[in-house]
Amino acid sequence: RDGAVMVTGGAGYIGSHAVLALLDAGWRVVVVDNLVTGFDWAVDRRARLVVANVADDEKVRDAIREHGVTAIMHFAGSVVVPESVSDPLKYYRNNTAASRSLIESAVSEGVKHFIFSSTAATYGVPEVVPVREDSPQLPINPYGMSKLMTEHMLRDVAAAHPLNFAALRYFNVAGADPQGRSGQSTAGATHLIKIAAEAATGKRGHVSVFGTDFATRDGTGVRDYIHVSDLAAAHVDALDLLLAEPGKSHFLNAGYGRGYSVLEVLDAVDRVTNMKIERRMEGRRAGDPDELVSDNRAILEALPWRPKYDDLDRIVTDALSWERHLASRQ
Ligand code: UDP
Repeated sequence: RDGAVMVTGGAGYIGSHAVLALLDAGWRVVVVDNLVTGFDWAVDRRARLVVANVADDEKVRDAIREHGVTAIMHFAGSVVVPESVSDPLKYYRNNTAASRSLIESAVSEGVKHFIFSSTAATYGVPEVVPVREDSPQLPINPYGMSKLMTEHMLRDVAAAHPLNFAALRYFNVAGADPQGRSGQSTAGATHLIKIAAEAATGKRGHVSVFGTDFATRDGTGVRDYIHVSDLAAAHVDALDLLLAEPGKSHFLNAGYGRGYSVLEVLDAVDRVTNMKIERRMEGRRAGDPDELVSDNRAILEALPWRPKYDDLDRIVTDALSWERHLASRQ
């Protein structure tokens, strides 16, 4: 493994799992994180932590030079969809503008490989499900737009400079490191599996089911849940691909190609915990599509990557273990 990988947002949920996957694969890792939503204790001790904003050009460029960074994985950003609606400029700053700075730092320091955390939210409300990478990208909120703008920047920069990239469009990321080394720790969870895990550990009393009249098999929203450690492993393989084919860049859906409804997820939580968690049927959230499931043939074709934890009960079990771990630390 030549050089080091810079992981922005490496103290956050998905980034901390990518750090583990990179270290386990033999990479040197430099994390850049401002610790606004991440935690220093979430960064594995084998990695170096630089506490900085990714838009802090001087600190980022110094770190690239000091550690011999040859590739960047860019996870840092803001990720709460409703907040992006009420405070769009935060998203265009923390996601779009910060990415622009980071990409410029990569180009000026001669970093040739870039992996970007994109999102299925760039598709908006897809007309055809499962969603393919060449489906229209019509985001319906500033979060999705801020990520789509970064995809466009990467495409244009890769055409002009010796840099290739992989933009992985994440579907619904959930679960935690099967070895219990990391998990989702951010307070104020909005994601279904995290919320259900909090309910199972007594941190909340019930789970709201947002909408029961969707055009799906049981009326509740269907999503493609992917285990965070599988997602992290896909990044390591994507990096190998970028190194092997320098002229080539990729937009890849990261999902399992299979969806579960809200009720199916809650059934899994009940099954795994042997509990009956209270469900409250409520109205829809604004902007929720009926069904968001990936067509994942492109990533399976491009990478040797194969999902290892492609099982809803497994995702829920790992999410619950981490939730119990968090509860025991308080
Ligand atoms: N959801 C729900 N109750 C919750 C949180 C989410 O019913 O407390 C539903 C949501 O409407 C969607 C699915 O669960 O159908 C996944 O939502 P989540 O916020 O986890 O991810 P999203 O798909 O919005 O990115």
